[in-house]
Amino acid sequence: MLQKISGGEIILLKDDFNRTIKNLRISLTSKCNLRCIYCHAEGEQNPKEEISREDIAEILRVGEKFGITSVKFTGGEPLVRRDLVDIIRSVPESMESSLTTNGTLLAPVARDLKDAGLSRVNISLDTLRPDRYIEITKKDMLANVFEGINAALNVGLTPVKLNVVLLKGINEDEINDFIDFVRNKRNLILQFIELMEFDGNKYRTNVTALEKELQAQSKTIITRRMHHRKKYCLNGSEVEVVRPMHNNEFCAFCNRLRVTSDAKLKPCLLRHDNHVDVRGKRGEELEELFLKAVKLREPYFT
Ligand code: SAM
Repeated sequence: MLQKISGGEIILLKDDFNRTIKNLRISLTSKCNLRCIYCHAEGEQNPKEEISREDIAEILRVGEKFGITSVKFTGGEPLVRRDLVDIIRSVPESMESSLTTNGTLLAPVARDLKDAGLSRVNISLDTLRPDRYIEITKKDMLANVFEGINAALNVGLTPVKLNVVLLKGINEDEINDFIDFVRNKRNLILQFIELMEFDGNKYRTNVTALEKELQAQSKTIITRRMHHRKKYCLNGSEVEVVRPMHNNEFCAFCNRLRVTSDAKLKPCLLRHDNHVDVRGKRGEELEELFLKAVKLREPYFT
């Protein structure tokens, strides 16, 4: 499971399925200022005591020791955390940091985040229409999201990825509008996301047909290392598709360890029964818990 790199001090985290962990995804809070009708809230509906800045810094320090090269912060909405800029500052220099946000609160702090070392952002936006935005999020903040996108592009939090979850009967008719929205915009990439199913989620739609259509229209298709996602390049628009459900490639190429907003290592996106509590843990004790969490990793879809 452990692999020493000759001559170096880094010890790589490799799970029993030959997947090397290179990436952390840390949820900073379960709180959010939007109320999206389909949201899985990263499986964290109930607010609990939030992971502390000190715990995050230690997790990052240990992650660096284990050869982790990138970290993504998520939530809830990470921008509701007042100490977000300080958290970004605590990311080791060797790690690339990014953030996924609904973009509504981004514009006023984009510059500070960039100066603190944040590399880029994903901005979640499921519709370009104001009335629909209210229907989906229960808030009238679409204009703030557009400001957030512009601010991110202006200060260089790039490439900016626009996350669009496809929702049956709600936004499927906006696929081409989104492709047009990113067309010929440098550093703006579109990412269509398949809705993850959970009880009562009636908006789920099959994205296989969309992928086939993109495949047919694309001049170039790039396969990314992360989850083996495909990037389609079509006529001035870059489009990725994220398909976590029933997708064994997603699992086979998963190199990510998650951290919940209540300070638990989470070996698999789709499991809630094998978390490893690391609140307050430091040094070797935390390293052992990283190893334990990695040992628990197994592909959900095979
Ligand atoms: N508030 C931040 C944001 O909007 O990006 C971070 C948290 S949000 C849970 C992270 C991403 O998960 C967003 O792009 C959101 O659209 C997506 N998401 C939420 N529920 C989902 C579901 N059931 N299936 C697929 N993606 C989902």
